[in-house]
Amino acid sequence: MSVSAKMSKLGTETAFDVLARAAALANTGMDVINLGIGQPDFPTPAPIVEAGIQALKDGHHGYTAATGIPELREAVAEDIAARRGVSVNPDHILIMPGGKMTMSFAIEMFGEEGAEILYPNPGFPIYESMIRYSGATPVPIPLLESADFSFKAEDVLTLVNENTRLIIINTPANPTGGVIPREELEKLAKGLKDWPGVFILSDEIYSRMTYDGLNHCSLLEFAEIRDRLILLDGWSKTYAMTGWRLGWGLWPEQLIEYAKRLCVNYHSCVNSSAQYAGIAALKGDQSPVDEMMTAFNRRRKLIVARLNEMAGVSCVMPKGAFYAFPNITGTGLTAKQMQDLLLEKDGIATIAGTSFGKDGEGYIRFSYANSEENIERAMDRMEKRMREIMGA
Ligand code: PLP
Repeated sequence: MSVSAKMSKLGTETAFDVLARAAALANTGMDVINLGIGQPDFPTPAPIVEAGIQALKDGHHGYTAATGIPELREAVAEDIAARRGVSVNPDHILIMPGGKMTMSFAIEMFGEEGAEILYPNPGFPIYESMIRYSGATPVPIPLLESADFSFKAEDVLTLVNENTRLIIINTPANPTGGVIPREELEKLAKGLKDWPGVFILSDEIYSRMTYDGLNHCSLLEFAEIRDRLILLDGWSKTYAMTGWRLGWGLWPEQLIEYAKRLCVNYHSCVNSSAQYAGIAALKGDQSPVDEMMTAFNRRRKLIVARLNEMAGVSCVMPKGAFYAFPNITGTGLTAKQMQDLLLEKDGIATIAGTSFGKDGEGYIRFSYANSEENIERAMDRMEKRMREIMGA
């Protein structure tokens, strides 16, 4: 067999491996608490589910336009106008099978031998995987705990050169829960005026998930880069719709025709009933989103407080998303050793920080998309294990 050489460059998302291992252990009778996978544990709000069912009953069974149904693209444009005060052309919005496809398309569009793409490290693993697959060179933007899991714009700008084609920004971030402050994003947007050929992919899938009254700053707010900004967002996290596979991308004029062509080549269109559910999500009552965030906020405080009480472990308070990213260097274990120990011995599924890039060594990711009771139980088990390791 001779598959193409680029197949060997494709990475993966370990969260799915951990999910499978956790399920296998649970099948043997082990009580596994899943703090691994990054999806809300809430059901999709009922009116959204009803809208999806109604669409099927109404006969929406066929292909739709490859770009998505016009009503949904308009609803996204209205949502952007309401949340960002920016008027966008619905023709520049593409409805996608999840958020991930917008990133894959953007990377595919710019990635090739000799091109450089900047991406956050630690960061969502698919960025690096797809960059390597495209043949481009991945250039990490370090997001360090000492910098509150953020960056200084000037440090990012020093990484840009004539080979740079695309910069990927993700705020709030997976896996750290970090948020890039508005002033750094603004400085970055201004600095990029010197690099008119560099495009930006802003992954804002967690844009509705911030805490303590913090307003999410979208890169869309900076007019100077709007003509080269690709904005990724979607329904998966905000409306607990990960399994519906529904997302959207906003593309600049210069790229929209290429992006449409990729849609036709890759997926034809998105599941039709899911698109109708997406309209109900955007236009319907938003209180389920607020209620979910209230629950996440309680869990966030709980898990961070419990982690900080443990010997060898320290955890900064995440500002967004639903992840805690504690530093475990004090335990002397690597991230992978900690992930395996907690899963195999204590039945706690977490993800090693190294699954998110080399700068994730010394950390593990907890998704606190689980009940407070389960978080407490997991923390009790881990605390005991840490005491044992630290000989305390
Ligand atoms: N972007 C980030 C930063 C994510 O964490 C995820 C999912 O975990 C995605 C994009 C993909 O979202 P979707 O499930 O809608 O493809």
